[in-house]
Parts: sequence; C-alpha cells; structure tokens
Amino acid sequence: MASLQDTLGPVVGAKAAKRLAAALDLRTVGELLRHYPRRYENRGELTDLASLRDGENVTVQAEVASVSVRRMRNRPGTVLEAVVTDGRGRLALTFFARGRQDWREKLLQPGVRGLFAGQVSTFQGKRQLSHPEYELLGTGAAVVRAAEYAAELIPVYPAAKELTSWQIADSVRMALDLLDVADDPLPRAIRDRYKLCGLADALRGIHRPADRRDAERARERLKWDEAFVLQVILAQRRRAAIAFSATPRPRRPAGLLAEFDGRLPFELTVGQQLAGATIADELAFDHPMHRLLQGEVGSGKTVIAVRAMLQVVDGGGQAALLAPTEVLAQQHYRSIGALLGPLAQAGQLGGAERATRLALLTGSLGAAARREALLDAASGSAGIVIGTHALLEENVQFADLGLVVIDEQHRFGVEQRDALREKAGDGRPHVLVMTATPIPRTVAMTVFGDLEVSTLTELPAGREAISTHVVPAAERPRYLERTWERVTEEVRKNRQIYVVCPRIGGDAPAGNGRGDEDAAGGSQAGYGTAGDGASGDGSDGDGSDGYGTAGDGSDGGRSSGAVDGEARRPPLAVIELAAELGRGPLAGVRLAVMHGRLPPEEKDRVMLAFAAGTVDVLVTTTVVEVGVDVPNATTMVIMDADRFGVSQLHQLRGRVGRGSHEGLCLLVTEAEAGGQARQRLDAVAATLDGFKLSRLDLEQRREGDVLGSAQAGRKSSLKLLTLLADEDLIGHARRAATELVDADPALAGYPALAAAVAALLDQERAEFLEKA
Ligand code: ADP
Ligand code: MG
Repeated sequence: MASLQDTLGPVVGAKAAKRLAAALDLRTVGELLRHYPRRYENRGELTDLASLRDGENVTVQAEVASVSVRRMRNRPGTVLEAVVTDGRGRLALTFFARGRQDWREKLLQPGVRGLFAGQVSTFQGKRQLSHPEYELLGTGAAVVRAAEYAAELIPVYPAAKELTSWQIADSVRMALDLLDVADDPLPRAIRDRYKLCGLADALRGIHRPADRRDAERARERLKWDEAFVLQVILAQRRRAAIAFSATPRPRRPAGLLAEFDGRLPFELTVGQQLAGATIADELAFDHPMHRLLQGEVGSGKTVIAVRAMLQVVDGGGQAALLAPTEVLAQQHYRSIGALLGPLAQAGQLGGAERATRLALLTGSLGAAARREALLDAASGSAGIVIGTHALLEENVQFADLGLVVIDEQHRFGVEQRDALREKAGDGRPHVLVMTATPIPRTVAMTVFGDLEVSTLTELPAGREAISTHVVPAAERPRYLERTWERVTEEVRKNRQIYVVCPRIGGDAPAGNGRGDEDAAGGSQAGYGTAGDGASGDGSDGDGSDGYGTAGDGSDGGRSSGAVDGEARRPPLAVIELAAELGRGPLAGVRLAVMHGRLPPEEKDRVMLAFAAGTVDVLVTTTVVEVGVDVPNATTMVIMDADRFGVSQLHQLRGRVGRGSHEGLCLLVTEAEAGGQARQRLDAVAATLDGFKLSRLDLEQRREGDVLGSAQAGRKSSLKLLTLLADEDLIGHARRAATELVDADPALAGYPALAAAVAALLDQERAEFLEKA
C-alpha cells in the first residue's frame, strides 16, 4: 500500500522515479497523481494531424501508411522513414541508426496503429517527428498492457522530451494500484452535501476514466480540493486578523474630516458615499478593518482614502499611505497636500486651527529631510505619512499608527502588508487596500480572499470620455504619420501628450531586460517577449508566461513562444524613439523622456515640468501606468501596443481625459489584422469597461500573470480550477470553508484537511522566497 506522501521510488521503481523527478519534478505519490492528463484520446480515434504545429511536443494517435529504409549518403548507417496518417494528413517519422533497422521495420508495418511522441518539425516541406518515441496499440509490447487499452479513453499527459505520456501513464497506474487514501481531506459532510466522490475514487477517475462522465466527476471533486483548501486558509486568515484588537476611531462630529467634507468642491458619487460609509463604520470597530477598495483609474479612490485617514487623525491616530513607486508617493504627497490645503498645515502661517501635517518618506530623501520625516512620524506630529517601501524599514516608527492605506495592492505581497501592520504596536492598524485593476468577484474572493471588497463602479460626473483607436502601422504607414500630425495639433492647443514604449533602450543591451524598468514588468510577465527585454524586473527571458504559448494544448508547453520570440524585432524603446521623433515628425516640439532608470530627482523634475506644461510630449515607459495625474494631458500614443496586457493598456489610457478635455488613445501596432494580438487591441478600443477587459485578460492568460508576482504561489496550486469559469464552485467552497473554520478554527477534527492546508502554505512560502 502507498500513501500520497510516500516517495515514488518504492512504488514505481527507482529508474522511473528518477526520470519523473528529473523531467517533471515529481517526487511523491501525491505529486505524481496530481500530474493530471492534459486531455484524453478516444481509443481508435486518430489525431487530426493538420492541427500540429512546428515546435510542439506532441503525442499523436495515428496509423502507419508506409515504411522505407535507405542507406545514408554521407555516413555509414540507415534512415528509416515511416509515414503515419490520420486518414487525411500525413506525418513522417524518421529514425537514424548506425546499422540496419529490420526489427523496427517489422514493428512499424502498414496498418498498425500507435501513439507517437516527439517534437514537430518541418523538413523539406514535410511535417515530421525525428526519432519519436512510440507505443503500438494491440501489438508487440502493448499486448501486455491490453487491460490499459481496453479502456475507451487514453490519458495524454503533459510530457517531457525524456519522458513520454505513456511512460507517465505506466507510473500512474502502478501508483493507483497501490494507493491507499486513509483519510480524505474533504470532510464527509461537504462531500455529501455537494455530491462529490472520495479522493481515491477521483484520482482513479481522472487518470483512468471509464468514460468522459467519469472523468468529469473526478475533475469536479479535484477542483473542490483546490478551491476548498485555499478558502480554508483565507477563512483562517480573516479570522486571525479579526481576532486582533484595534483602536476604534469613530467619526467625530466636528473634526478635520467634517471640515474637509465642507470644503470639497464636488459631490461624492453614490459609490464613494457607500464605500465611505462602510469604511467609516469599520474604523469604529475594535477589530481591524481589512478592506479592498477597487475602482477604475479616476473613479475617486484617493478621496475615500483621504477621508478615512482624516477620521483616524480625528481619533488621535496616524495614517500611513504606501505607494508602489517614488513618483507615485511624491504625487500623492502633492495632491493630498493640495486637497487638504490649510488642514495639513499645522503650525504654519495660514494653517487651520485643528490642522495636522503630512510627511513624505522615500528612499531618495536627503539625510536631513529623512531625519525630519522620521521624527514627524515618531512624534505623531505628522497625522499622515506617505511613502514607498522605505516606510517598511525597521527604523520607521509611529506614535500611534491607526490606519494603513496601500495603493495598488498587486505590487505588494501579504508579507509587506504585515511588516507595516506590525508598526502599530500592541493592537493592529486598520488596513485599506486600493487597486485600479478591476477584477471579477471570484478572482477577488480567491486572490484577495482575506479582504472584504468595496467597488466603485462609476466615474465622477463631468469626466470626458476617452476614445481609443488601433493604428495598424505595418498595413497603413500613413496612419502612423497621421498619428504624429495629430500629436502636433494637440501640442498647438497647449495640451500634453504621452508616448509610451515597452522598453527603455539607450545603453541597456538588447536581449537583456533585467532591471530595465521598475514599474513595467511587475504585473505583466511575458507577452511573447522571450529574451527581448520588453518585460521588466525578473520576468524577462521567459516567453512561456506570455501570449506565444498560453495554454494552447501543446504537449510540451513552451516551445512555440520561443519560436515567436526569435522572429520578432525588439520592442520600441523610449530613448531611441524620443531621439527619432525629435529629429523627425515632432521636431520643434518640447520632448522629454521618462523611465525607471532616471534618478528620482530627475523623474520628479520631468513629471513636474510635464504637469506644468513646459514639456509637451513625454516619451515614457509604463512608469506612468498607475495613478499619475496630469489633467491637461489629452492624448496617449502607445507604441507596440500588442506587447502590453489588456488590463495594462486600459490603465495606461486612464492617464488621459482626466481634465475637461476629451481623451484620445492611439494603440500603434504592427500585429497582423485578425490575429489574436489585434483582437485584444480591438477589444480595448471597443470598451471602457475595465471589468470586461480584466475578464478577457484573465481568460487569455494565467491568473498569476495578470495579477502579479505577489500571487504567484497561487497559480501553481490551481491546476484544474479556473477562477472565471468555476465561479459557482468557488462560491460554495468559500461558504463551506467559512462555516467549517468558524466551527473548528484549528481544524482539530480534520487532520487530513489540516495537512493539506499546511502543505499549501509551505508551497506558497517556498515560492515566495524563491521570487524574493
Ligand atoms: P483614483 O485614485 O481612483 O484614480 P482619484 O481619487 O485620484 O481617482 O480621483 C481622480 C480625480 O477626480 C481627482 O482629481 C479627484 O479630485 C476627482 N474626483 C474624485 N471624486 C470626485 C467626484 N465625486 N466628483 C468630481 N470629481 C471627483
Ligand atoms: Mg489613484
């Protein structure tokens, strides 16, 4: 008998165990049995050979049509070529050997059917597999496995070059034969309620289904495992967070907040009022608030955060606002300072009677300014402290930290949130997380499942619309010329224009994206940019995260993206494009460049000049993606737009049309009309609904790629579950998990579930450390 925790050696044999570990990193029975088939072949039904693509590692079922052997011309030895067919298309199998290959010729007789596995290539116009592995059905070696093939469905596994699908199937069969699941992690009551089969049953069903329904039943149950264990962790986290005490900061009738509201030059939207009221209530509890506020760029989240911070200051506490970049921290500092006016000028001439102070703490502060900010935070004289990661450092202290606001959650991990929380001393601060990436409800429930969610669905009135157009630069060079003419026209009207490129360029060697951009890559891994430097921190060089390869069903996974990547030119770069524009179409226009490699003072200077209107056109990377606010900016030109993610494009265009002028966004691309890349751009042009677009993004890419590295640990634990399609299941699992954790927080009555929870936590921790 074997349990899921057992190592593979004794179960499948030392040799197979070694291969499984080397090729697929599978070491225990549980890991092997959770290596699920990618699909099933119907026995006897031949694979459509026309669907094969170059570079793919495939396993096909086909029939031998002809065999021939000839001597090699330049070397001793023979080439055997077998042609297999699905009845329509043909595929050549070639085998080279030093000597004769009679034995193989005998095996591969016309009419024999088999599974053939290898990498697809094209040679002299013919599709071929060079030296494929094969397994013939119903003859020779396969007779021993007659029982296996009596089944209607043949599982096809994600395989590797050195390990074929049926070798995996062999090991799986041995493991299943010995498997003993003593204790099911999914509690009996839940299985009964949702009519789910037991774990051993499910593992058998997914690997060796009697029919498709059997496989589906197994999948359903195994999806539950994924959803449920995760939801149990989240329920525990919510419970643990609430178990802490927090200082209640109820609304005061006559404080800074009341004064602020009285001075607001606009009416809050209904959404702002609702979210604001919820937050105001939660701040008054003696348990910490944990709330996510999501809303489009420009939906007015900052105002809500400021109101929450003022309520806390009125209650005698301090608030910290954590921003993902230096530029954003500075901008928050300025814009919140402007919003508060005299309310933030305590001790200054013109300051209001009851005023507080703002402090800014970033990595680039000089020693004196830094000392002053640290002192303001520690003494409590600054009611609101705004900063970057520098806020997390150990020497940063607060007199009484009551609220932590985190802007753009997806750039921070749970660990960083905790680091800041711990600065509150005995109790815990309330936490408000803001994100402009609108995400569907179930995604929020999973990815931010330890937070309660408020959503702003409308933009404040009076905001001008943004129109978006795709500029097909390859098919219609004239449109690109027209783009620069349009930019010049806007400049003449004294408006500001962004031109965004995927890459910095300059002295950064092409082919090395590392460190190329501080804000660009974090949430947007890949995009078929294999090794070309378009993606930013740490995500470069791995095309498998991008579009080239996204879940296209090829058996080996990653090869097609690499092929794509080689064929593409490097993405346009800020430094080169700015020079070109200055010499050519935008000569005479006041141009400036902006990117993550500029020193912080320089970034600040450029941003200020742009905001002040002394720079007309800012050629920039995605540093401007989040939060930057220049109301006079009307136009955004995004170069190589196909290299960006859908959600990212949407966020970028949110930079324009923020003032009283209509916004224009031009998506310049050389991607072919009708291709997937163009369809994504067309979708962005067609709607301003961020939720719709994030859904599209999530459908096309894996969750972790869309939502950023902080959630990277999640994606590998979700093998069957898709956050969009399994909405109902996730909802049920969340409810069931919450009930169970409420009744038995430590899972004392559920040892198998507790073990599964511990294993997932270990895995997430390990992956987090790997990333860090
Ligand atoms: P977000 O942080 O969600 O991107 P902001 O809070 O920065 O949005 O708001 C964008 C702009 O809209 C700011 O200039 C802000 O002052 C303004 N604004 C916010 N709420 C309203 C409202 N209810 N009516 C009019 N303007 C508003
Ligand atoms: Mg904002």
